[in-house]
Amino acid sequence: MLRRNAGNSDGQGRSCQTAGNDSLPSLHTVRALTGWFKLTVTIPSIDYKRSRSICRFRESRRLMSAQSWVSSAGRVVRRVIKLPTWRVLLLFSLTLGWTEAMQDTFFQRLFDETSVLFNNGTPRIPDTTVYRKEYDFIIIGAGSGGSVMANRLSEVRDWNVLLLEAGKEGNMLTEVPLTAGLTSITGYNWGYTADPMKGACLGLKGGVCNWPKGRGLGGTSLINFLIYTRGHKKDYDGWEQAGNPGWGFRDVLEYFKKSERVQIPELRNSPYRSTAGPVDVEESSFETPLLKRFIDAGRNLGYMETDPNGEIQLGFGKAQATMRRGRRCSAAKAYLAPACRRPNLDISMYSRVTKILIDPVTKIAYGVEFMKHRRRYVIRARKEVILAAGAIASPQLLMLSGVGPRDHLKEIGIPMVQDLPVGYNLQDHLNLPGLVFPVNQPVTVRERDMRSPRYILDYMLLGRGPFTSPGGAEGVAFVKTNISFTPSDYPDIELVMGTGAYNNDESGSLRATIGITDEFYHNTYKTILGKHAFSVSPVLMRPKSRGRIYLKSANPFHWPRMEGNFYADYDDLVVLREGVKLSVDLIESRSFRDIGARLHSTPFYGCEQHRFRSDEYWECAIRRVGSTLQHQCGTCKMGPATDPEAVVNAQLQVYGIQGLRVVDASIMPTIPASHTNAVVFMIGEKAADMVKEFWANEIR
Ligand SMILES: Cc1cc2nc3c(=O)[nH]c(=O)nc-3n(C[C@H](O)[C@H](O)[C@H](O)COP(=O)(O)OP(=O)(O)OC[C@H]3O[C@@H](n4cnc5c(N)ncnc54)[C@H](O)[C@@H]3O)c2cc1C
Repeated sequence: MLRRNAGNSDGQGRSCQTAGNDSLPSLHTVRALTGWFKLTVTIPSIDYKRSRSICRFRESRRLMSAQSWVSSAGRVVRRVIKLPTWRVLLLFSLTLGWTEAMQDTFFQRLFDETSVLFNNGTPRIPDTTVYRKEYDFIIIGAGSGGSVMANRLSEVRDWNVLLLEAGKEGNMLTEVPLTAGLTSITGYNWGYTADPMKGACLGLKGGVCNWPKGRGLGGTSLINFLIYTRGHKKDYDGWEQAGNPGWGFRDVLEYFKKSERVQIPELRNSPYRSTAGPVDVEESSFETPLLKRFIDAGRNLGYMETDPNGEIQLGFGKAQATMRRGRRCSAAKAYLAPACRRPNLDISMYSRVTKILIDPVTKIAYGVEFMKHRRRYVIRARKEVILAAGAIASPQLLMLSGVGPRDHLKEIGIPMVQDLPVGYNLQDHLNLPGLVFPVNQPVTVRERDMRSPRYILDYMLLGRGPFTSPGGAEGVAFVKTNISFTPSDYPDIELVMGTGAYNNDESGSLRATIGITDEFYHNTYKTILGKHAFSVSPVLMRPKSRGRIYLKSANPFHWPRMEGNFYADYDDLVVLREGVKLSVDLIESRSFRDIGARLHSTPFYGCEQHRFRSDEYWECAIRRVGSTLQHQCGTCKMGPATDPEAVVNAQLQVYGIQGLRVVDASIMPTIPASHTNAVVFMIGEKAADMVKEFWANEIR
């Protein structure tokens, strides 16, 4: 019923492909948004994007049964009549503006254009519609990796660069840090769901994990939760030791610094930080009394207050975020906006690449094929095609283009160009959301409080207040469990403390991000709905389990198969379970006693059969509603030629193919102890220098 898979199909005909301009808020978004503004009117659950799709009739018949129309219309009328006039007007314009009409140009343009007003004045990025026959570089995907490449390569005036992106530019919705979860229920999310797993996501909607991924200029940095971390030195030294020269910590630090402009006064002079890059890193100006207690509790466990992106990663601190004056600083804002007027850079939105063109004899990548507004284009690349479509779409595109495991391509019926282990080595950071700690004082952020005009104006006019809290996260800690198998200074668990909790997710936007069911929500939190509470989410830093991306079919508009394989290695479950226990002990420690913080006493729905707080109980909770931080990576692994899993070399060039590199999260050999956005910026910065060096004799 939701727009989970706009513009996609799961390959089994369960949904249909839309074409063209479809990055719009769905009716579910309207519901979530109206929820925020207390216009809790139930609107029929019609996915208008789908109803405009090529299978309009079948979909709309399924979605718009006459019965639901009549009963929903009745409910709307009943509710509307009770509302004051201004709300009726607002509701009227919202329903008109956000639905069918919105898809047509006027309302949509109006909304997108007015978004500029709340966008720190960043100008809109023009969409290219006229192309050269040939470019020096064609970049696929304007996400975190692709945006860096587009900016840095177009610095060379003699090079022509074409950036192709399936989605469109962000708008006012994607700007707000606190409501990052809302973006996952818009067309800015590809809406992937992983294949069902035996031991994970069992209690989530449909028994599957949601794997949101950004679609639009900025890619996933347009919908992510903005937290800025870089990982541990040992992560990168490990990459180098695995046979990837130039990727040790000392090398990559320069590129982390090249990408960032830290705005946190006390960190400006740190040798690990920089103030000269394009990505703004800030702390929210807003703080609840929870943060002090969180840091204090950490101190009692022996951890210092640290900058996790500095000398010592272990420790507690305030969340750092990719924000510019309180608003999201996406890859597009940081890298594309300043470069988009360059005459040698063309940025083409709504452009879905369907194939990388590779000569099967010479094995040279010479161009791409893409669809835009239902038209097919073929454009040639003189020097290189740079694949930056992210950890799911990059391996998919490679396989569609004949680069992948021989047997698998044969099974799907795709002529093989190069036999490579594409799609293997999938890794992610597993976590347990939903741990809720009610308190006896009004020290948390509840969704209903956010409707206060004061907070809205604070955000809109000054870029301050609770709306600047990155995805609602306030504190971040990197810790070790009692059973940690990692080196002494290396964390096995991250704790993310939120200013609010699931029991206040009235709009449903948080639940929708990962697929928590209404049944779980009501059964688990019914006794504390609307009460002040906060959350801590423990995250497993070093997963041992590995998943895989496969093709379902040779149709580029079908989703690939996504096999998470979570907890296939039982150690992952055990370490995360210990992380959960550590989180509970931390919050129930003396530092939080004055506000009466205690773990919510109703067991997780579906795990009542186990003794509350026992190991079996926590394992059940993790398997049922455990999710991930959506840091999927590793599916086009970087490694030496001797590594049987390697797809690209240390220069990020695809083995066996000339003129083709991968520059995104999929090249990570192992997942770092970090959120992945900053890591991909670093990868992009480093890759751009490698490309420049490779073609150095051409640069005047
Ligand atoms: C909900 C969520 C929360 C997150 N929170 C954080 C966080 O707080 N901090 C953090 O550091 N990281 C976070 N991440 C992860 C982080 O944002 C990503 O790892 C990172 O942005 C990935 O960058 P990328 O370049 O690999 O891919 P992406 O940024 O996903 O870029 C890929 C781009 O390619 C485009 N594309 C794909 N296929 C095609 C095609 N066929 N044709 C044309 N274009 C195509 C996509 O539309 C997209 O724009 C989060 C992720 C999610 C989903």
